[in-house]
Amino acid sequence: MAAPQKGDLSASERKILQVIAAGDVQEATQLLASKEVRVNCLDEYGMTPLMHAAYKGKADMCRLLLQHGADVNCNQHEYGYTALMFAGLSGKTDITSMMLDAGAETDLMNSVGRTAAQMAAFVGQHDCVTVINNFFSRARLEYYTRPQGLDREPKLPQSLAGPLHKIIMTTNLNPVKIVMLVKENPVLVDVAALEKCYQVMDLLCEQCVKQQDMNEVLAMKMHYISCVFQKCLAFLQKQDDKLDALVKSLLRGRDSDGFPQYQEKFIRDCIRRFPYCEATLLQQLVRSITPVEIGNDPTAFSVLTQALTGQMAFVDADYCATCGERGANKRCSLCKAVTYCSLTCQKLHWFTHKKMCRSLQEQSVGLDKDTPRLKELKGAVSASRGEGGCCWRLSFRASCFCLYLC
Ligand SMILES: [Zn+2]
Ligand SMILES: [Zn+2]
Repeated sequence: MAAPQKGDLSASERKILQVIAAGDVQEATQLLASKEVRVNCLDEYGMTPLMHAAYKGKADMCRLLLQHGADVNCNQHEYGYTALMFAGLSGKTDITSMMLDAGAETDLMNSVGRTAAQMAAFVGQHDCVTVINNFFSRARLEYYTRPQGLDREPKLPQSLAGPLHKIIMTTNLNPVKIVMLVKENPVLVDVAALEKCYQVMDLLCEQCVKQQDMNEVLAMKMHYISCVFQKCLAFLQKQDDKLDALVKSLLRGRDSDGFPQYQEKFIRDCIRRFPYCEATLLQQLVRSITPVEIGNDPTAFSVLTQALTGQMAFVDADYCATCGERGANKRCSLCKAVTYCSLTCQKLHWFTHKKMCRSLQEQSVGLDKDTPRLKELKGAVSASRGEGGCCWRLSFRASCFCLYLC
């Protein structure tokens, strides 16, 4: 069958574009079954039905079209847009992930030389940028579940592939969160399993560095996750408490201001242990964190998060004080200064937060007494600093009047 030509649409094909816009999945299913619709037909601008569905943010419709063989990498569009680019523009992270799972290439460029991630960034869809930059196909990981070369056994048992892939895809790099993801899967809470996982992560890291279009960002992420696994392994070998001691060490705040210095040092150490010292990303990260005194901004976590996910930690959302998850909306009822994503996280944090809670309460009472004018001024100061999340640093909080999380 000849390749579809731009604007050469049958009546049913025109109809399906309208149906997509209306979001009527049932009618679209019937039209696609009728064989009168070519799933990769092109309208006059070179847009396929999949591109329309992605742009309009219709997830069900995208799924249906992909099931019918829609070409996720078609770029006959007049400006070279792909379905992934339209998904990124729509701001829908579920559709963006769906396109990636369906094999969308991330490095295709439009007619002005922009990739899907760059286009999404340009229109401020940062969550989609993060999804694209952190994508790692399950197939690439599955490779290690088959014996290679002279190996008798695969490097990764099939049962570990799913849980490991979930961790690789996380965009929350808080070490506490990664340890929690490990704890969630009893198959991972095991010395032999963690050993296999970190070795595969090291291989993936090497692969990302050595592949033709070197991906330093992904390489650093693989290395970092490997370091967290190795830390879990070390704790599991020492004590049999299912990693609770590690979570506590990562959360424990120092006496003077509650700053979690073990966590800070751990992340700094992970970055410095990246094995490819010529990597530009490594050098940038080291330059950003080395001059910073422990306890000051930026933290190693925020520097790493920004480099790997493109997101500014602690800028536009409330983060869980325990696991770093975004959208945390449960506040400590006493000091109202720290937020959590769940009761579990709040309980985990209490052993260390209780030492700071009272002084945070006094701080917030002090702030409540301020005149409106002073409050306004403090708000402006914190906004101009463009940062927050400094609840555990009372001195800093007092000096910058950060009202962001507090
Ligand atoms: Zn949490
Ligand atoms: Zn509190």
